[in-house]
Amino acid sequence: MHELGLLRSVVAAVEKVAAEAGATGVEAVGIRVGSLSGAVPEALDGAWPIATAGTVVAGARLDVEMVQAAVWCPSCAAEQPIDQFFALECPVCGTTTGQLVRGRELAVTHADLDVPAEPHG
Ligand SMILES: [Zn+2]
Repeated sequence: MHELGLLRSVVAAVEKVAAEAGATGVEAVGIRVGSLSGAVPEALDGAWPIATAGTVVAGARLDVEMVQAAVWCPSCAAEQPIDQFFALECPVCGTTTGQLVRGRELAVTHADLDVPAEPHG
C-alpha cells in the first residue's frame, strides 16, 4: 500500500521529534497531502493504525489537510489548480507548463506531544 510507506516516513519523523522532546506519547499528528502525492485520505486513515503500531505515535489522531495541486501558467500569468487528469497543463488555456507549484508534497505540519512535566523544574 502506497499510503503505508508514506505514513511510515511520517511516523519516523514524529518519533525523532518525540524522542528529542522526551515525549511519552503523541496526541495528534497533522500532515499536509498534495493531491498529486498519490495518497487517498481514506487509505491514509486506514493505514495509520498499522504505521503507528508499536511506536510512541500509536493512538495519536491523524489530521489530514489535502492540498489542491497547482501549476504556474506563463500565459495566464497565474497559478491554476489542476487535478490528476491534467498533465502539468493549464486547465484554463491549455498551455503546457512544467512548473508544478504544489501538489506532490506530503509534509508533517504539527505533532502534539505528551511531554511529562520536569520533576525538578
Ligand atoms: Zn493558462
